[in-house]
Amino acid sequence: MAGKIKVIAGEMFSGKSRELSRLIERALIADLEVAVVYPHFAVRSSPRDIARRMSELIGRWTLHPIMDGRSDLIHRSIPGTVDVIAIDEAQFFDDDLPAWARRWRHQGKTVVLAGLDMDYEEHPFGCMGQLLCLADEVMKIHAVCTICKQQDAFISHRLTPETDQVVVGDKNYTALCIDCYDRIQMSTTNPIEAQLEEA
Ligand SMILES: [Zn+2]
Repeated sequence: MAGKIKVIAGEMFSGKSRELSRLIERALIADLEVAVVYPHFAVRSSPRDIARRMSELIGRWTLHPIMDGRSDLIHRSIPGTVDVIAIDEAQFFDDDLPAWARRWRHQGKTVVLAGLDMDYEEHPFGCMGQLLCLADEVMKIHAVCTICKQQDAFISHRLTPETDQVVVGDKNYTALCIDCYDRIQMSTTNPIEAQLEEA
């Protein structure tokens, strides 16, 4: 079978892990062997969605938490016989992940990666930009904006004052559309202009 790279990208709460689970379920129905991979950090506030969802699926799959997002450990951890490598939270893996994905594709494996495409400041997150370029298939999905509840969200807006790129925890973020995001940015940087905008 010809190898493939598929990327599921979007902001937080857009359903990336759910979509990843759906593709895993399809692969299991097709009798393929699946390795599910996610980065494991010592400090983590929420249980991994993907681990919880996998427990409901029946078939040949194995689950691999990878210490500190080291992509070389994926290769060492998964059985060589797997047909599908499903990677959640791809943005937290190191810069070698795209090279590994290319290698697995040449070996005839399907590599499905779900991850945040942008950080809270609109910058490409980790190696997601490269993965999107390498992909045979790209799926961009969106949450609904939590303020207007109408438009597609475009960013994971951080609710806390930290400035590091990586601050984990669902409670620290909300999904916003571009209009609501701009309104919030304006009201914090220039309250007068924001008031004029409101009027
Ligand atoms: Zn909105």
